[in-house]
Amino acid sequence: MLSNKINISKKTRVETETTPTCGSRYFAETIPKYEIPDEGMPPRAAYQLIREELNLDGNPTLNMASFVTTWMEPEANQLIMDSIGKNFVDNDEYPQTEKIQTRVVNMLARLFNSPEKSESLGTATIGSSEAIMLGLLAHKWSWKKHRQAEDKPYDRPNIVMGADVHTAWTKFALYFDVELKLIPLEKDRHIVTAEGIEREIDENTICVGAVLGTTFTGQMDPIKEINDLLVNIKETKGWDIPIHVDAASGGFITPFLNPEIEWDFRLEQVKSINVSGHKYGLVYPGVGWLIFCDKNDLPEELIFEVNYLGGLMPNYSLNFSKGSNTIIAQYYNLIRLGKKGYQDILQILLVNAIYLAHKLENSGRFELINKNILFPLVAVKLKEDANFTVFHLSEKLRQKGWIVPAYTLPANADDVEVMRMVIKENFGRDMVEMLYTDIMKAYDSLDQTTFVKEEIDEKRKNLTLLY
Ligand SMILES: *Cc1c(COP(=O)(O)O)cnc(C)c1O
Repeated sequence: MLSNKINISKKTRVETETTPTCGSRYFAETIPKYEIPDEGMPPRAAYQLIREELNLDGNPTLNMASFVTTWMEPEANQLIMDSIGKNFVDNDEYPQTEKIQTRVVNMLARLFNSPEKSESLGTATIGSSEAIMLGLLAHKWSWKKHRQAEDKPYDRPNIVMGADVHTAWTKFALYFDVELKLIPLEKDRHIVTAEGIEREIDENTICVGAVLGTTFTGQMDPIKEINDLLVNIKETKGWDIPIHVDAASGGFITPFLNPEIEWDFRLEQVKSINVSGHKYGLVYPGVGWLIFCDKNDLPEELIFEVNYLGGLMPNYSLNFSKGSNTIIAQYYNLIRLGKKGYQDILQILLVNAIYLAHKLENSGRFELINKNILFPLVAVKLKEDANFTVFHLSEKLRQKGWIVPAYTLPANADDVEVMRMVIKENFGRDMVEMLYTDIMKAYDSLDQTTFVKEEIDEKRKNLTLLY
């Protein structure tokens, strides 16, 4: 039994101004976890203790799972710190911040080719999820008003989309009491088809959802075909069904890299679009955008004119208070990078993603899920002769610090097991090479291990669905 003392007495240890942070007793005590302590601690000690603990988190740079920005320029960081104390909702006090939001909405509406005659409208949100909820809610409301005006029942709204949509869409259906009509995928088709949509829509359809860059495979729904179908339906059956495009990641990519692809307000039925500023808008987490093609697409009853702190302010959001800094950071990127800057960055990302995809395919060990890469995302599955799963591979890579998610695709493609890598702004060619080398090493090591069938089944059972 060890006889040394392990506790430091508070009485004998009196910290002074010169006591080094790591020489203070807080480093020999456990950090408060359940109860707010009666007395605090010096700021340096609190900072240091928390900072060290957070090292147990994954490293954002090695996180290939997330689309969200992990690095911004120092000037952007400075602007963010400068505005961190500004509540966005106080727009009477911070009118300039409000103006900046409006400028960004205008820039995005033009980027998405809003028709010249229409007056676009939009708002900053916390991310695409809030933007999707708000966009769909507006369509639900418009549908209801329309049905009421025709003296028809409005108690059974539905929404139609492919199973390739993000979880935010199913959440909307549940939270806002709308019947969800999800069109299943197939083993070798991971997007929706216009025929699939046609089979499901009816007079109670508030909106059709389409994705520009799915989270699962980085593919694009056939938005133009869906639009043509709905234009036709409008002419023949009189149902005017809007499309909401979920451009969470694609909205900041396609306009710069493939401006010829028509997916946006150039299409007649596309009435609203969401995009995540914190994905390829290249801003830190906490900002998304919702843009309506025309101000009439947002029913005015849903806009709250809040009389608050001395001014009237129009508000269309699910939350009240929130920070201003990511909105300001978005504006910084738009004027700092310009179209050319976004294009330069995105081209590099795409080229690096395609490079990684080629290498993985040429290794003879993987099959590409998506052979036409339009977004910087690589999704692969193992060749059938592998005697382990992508879940093993993902776990093995984690030992090196790489976070590479593995998951199954949505129904009915849920027997397809994929591994996905999102290439982000600060991921250069050398990082791609190192990731590839480590994937090969992990593969070799797993290849030399014999897994029994039960072990593999167990891995499959424990997987969590990742978006
Ligand atoms: C990321 C993503 C979302 C959710 O966006 P947040 O900004 O994280 O709320 C929705 N749809 C798609 C296609 C996405 O990629």
